[in-house]
Amino acid sequence: MTFLCPKCKSNNSCLYPDKFVCFECKFETTSLEYNKILEKGGHKPKMATIKDAAQAYEPPQTLNIADLDKVSVEVPIEDREGKKKDNTTFKYKVAIVNGEEYRVPATVLKDLKIILETKPDCKLFKVVKEGEGMSTDYTVISL
Ligand SMILES: [Zn+2]
Repeated sequence: MTFLCPKCKSNNSCLYPDKFVCFECKFETTSLEYNKILEKGGHKPKMATIKDAAQAYEPPQTLNIADLDKVSVEVPIEDREGKKKDNTTFKYKVAIVNGEEYRVPATVLKDLKIILETKPDCKLFKVVKEGEGMSTDYTVISL
């Protein structure tokens, strides 16, 4: 069993239970420190390639409240925080249905508020989504 000296890179060294000694350059350190040095510089993990990343890539599964056929007004809602490309954070709300998180756009809550004001006994609603990206439109329908 040979041990590489982190200073002179020779193998003429010994790792004792409590210390590491290099017979070549007389470098001495504790076994703990020696292992730390090895972790930092010794075993560099193989770098992932673009190919590795591409093969492992899974598009983020963002479910939307509009993906549901009908939604109960009693479903729990939670706050989430996301990161934009410029590293600034933004908050959004998700409805938890059968353990899955469905994003609830602010405009849906705004419309649902009006529905509940005019129809306080509304139990179920449905969200219809039209368009994509910046021009996405949500229509909330009381069921
Ligand atoms: Zn040495």
